[in-house]
Amino acid sequence: MSENILVAVAWPYANSLIHVGNLTGSYLPADIFARYQRLAGNKVIMVSGSDAHGTPVAVQADAEGATPLEVYQRYHAGFLELFLQLGLTYDLFTSTHTQNHFKVSQAIFLALHKNGYLYRESQKQWYSPTQNRFLPDRFVEGTCYICNYPDARGDQCDGCGSLLDANHLINPRSKIDGSTPELRETEHFYLDLGKLQPQIVDFLREREGYWRPNVLRQSLGQILANNLHGRAITRDLDWGIPAPIENWTGKCLYVWFEAVIGYLSAAIEWAQIMGDPTSWYDWWYKPQARSYYFIGKDNIPFHAIIWPAQLVGAGEWFGKIFENREGTQLTLPYDVPSNEFMNLEGRKISGSRNWAVWGQDFLSRYDPDPLRFYLTANMPEAKDTDWDWEDFLRRNNDELVATWGNLANRVLSFAYRHWQGVVPAPGELRPADQEILTTIENGFETVGDQLNRVRLRAALTEVMRLATEANRYIDQAAPWFEIKNDKEAAATTIYTALRVIDSLKVLFSPFIPFSSERLHTYLGYTRPLFGKQFIETQQDDLGEHTTLRYQPTDASGRWEASQLNPGQTLLEPAPLFKKLDESIVAEERARLGKPQQ
Ligand SMILES: [Zn+2]
Repeated sequence: MSENILVAVAWPYANSLIHVGNLTGSYLPADIFARYQRLAGNKVIMVSGSDAHGTPVAVQADAEGATPLEVYQRYHAGFLELFLQLGLTYDLFTSTHTQNHFKVSQAIFLALHKNGYLYRESQKQWYSPTQNRFLPDRFVEGTCYICNYPDARGDQCDGCGSLLDANHLINPRSKIDGSTPELRETEHFYLDLGKLQPQIVDFLREREGYWRPNVLRQSLGQILANNLHGRAITRDLDWGIPAPIENWTGKCLYVWFEAVIGYLSAAIEWAQIMGDPTSWYDWWYKPQARSYYFIGKDNIPFHAIIWPAQLVGAGEWFGKIFENREGTQLTLPYDVPSNEFMNLEGRKISGSRNWAVWGQDFLSRYDPDPLRFYLTANMPEAKDTDWDWEDFLRRNNDELVATWGNLANRVLSFAYRHWQGVVPAPGELRPADQEILTTIENGFETVGDQLNRVRLRAALTEVMRLATEANRYIDQAAPWFEIKNDKEAAATTIYTALRVIDSLKVLFSPFIPFSSERLHTYLGYTRPLFGKQFIETQQDDLGEHTTLRYQPTDASGRWEASQLNPGQTLLEPAPLFKKLDESIVAEERARLGKPQQ
């Protein structure tokens, strides 16, 4: 039975470039998962966009003498290019700076208000006398008042994972210029998380059986230890979404409040673009629809506590306010498979020190599949991992090239040469032929099960193990000897081996789609495994915004074993991957920590 699956991916801030830690933390796992679910026949939408608002963008614009709009648009354009090259199949990658997102966010705000989950209060907020502005929590650092971690952010402590009240930070300092801020009075709307706590605890308890331990610890564990408290959802800032309250100016929705609403607004925008404006109901108003949030561990409380609280609190009023429709409860997250961090050569990745491997820079020298492969094999699913250039080289040469690429190339070249470019007709299959076909066929269940549970590393390890089995089969059958005295036996071996690589191609395809797609054409198929990605401009009253899109037009891939027919025409094959020279390790290490070019 086909299921509705929402793949909700972290929204990158439109003021910094994307590095391999970001990719393996959320963007790549989301794509692997989405590709698998599509192959398995489910109805998938994968959505995200650029987080355009907030002080980080405004501050960067000030520093450059540009407008926040210009800064956001420049980074946004870079994201689209990178995600296109890397094959991240967003059904819609949009931005928070769209009329639709403004409207959806304001409707969520008003629905929470209507349901009595907002209150208004004057508060003291850190104000920077040197900058003449209120500082958002994220721009104040200091010592955590819970665990004494010295570099706690105003909104959250990376030492103990707690959500913080910025005003209680010890020894506060402005992140912008290091100066000491002072507390000044200002009025804001608050989300009454305390009132929503019982529903959130119920929501989390229902998910205890299958959520990752770290995600439960930073959500349910934190709530039970510290309880939830009201949290300001408006700010004194002019770059963002105006709070929808009459005669109350100069206030915007706080960026953490509105950016998570993007998961909903992007699905709505996607439905509008597709010309079927209510089709998003299938993912957002059906309780049985499954939504997965792919995020890094620094974002757990916002996705496992606050976003569910916004959805619960908006309740049925959202539909009434947004489109004057009898509303339904919006669908709550099914899973938040958050990843840990990836370090680089033993040290924490740091953008400002250029201790990073940047996505676009990497792709100027290497192909996307080796990157996707290495980042999956090394994905920080359960604990922090490390990018190591020597390890990258080894995995590329020993696993991708030697175990998988050479197997596919050997079999295809041999078939192409000896059977006039068509799939040979086999004789009766022997026990060894049957056995390898069964082994590979069973992989669709075991690998599929791992993928469905978002255990992507384990899934890839299993596919690699199957490729090793296939190598063993072909080495034992040795068709290059068989062909000398028994061409029918060789035909049976090669037919079996072609079916095996045809199946392995599908099993590998969520991880390394570009090479799988090429292999698919070598095997003589004319329709692609997956659909098409493209960049498209959208128009609304706020102006133009560019989007990255995916359409499954003509996609023919299915999560099932090969049924390759004898006589199918093969194309002349070429190697799927490049063996890398050992010298790249020293070259790449020499780039680290140097100023960017
Ligand atoms: Zn702390």
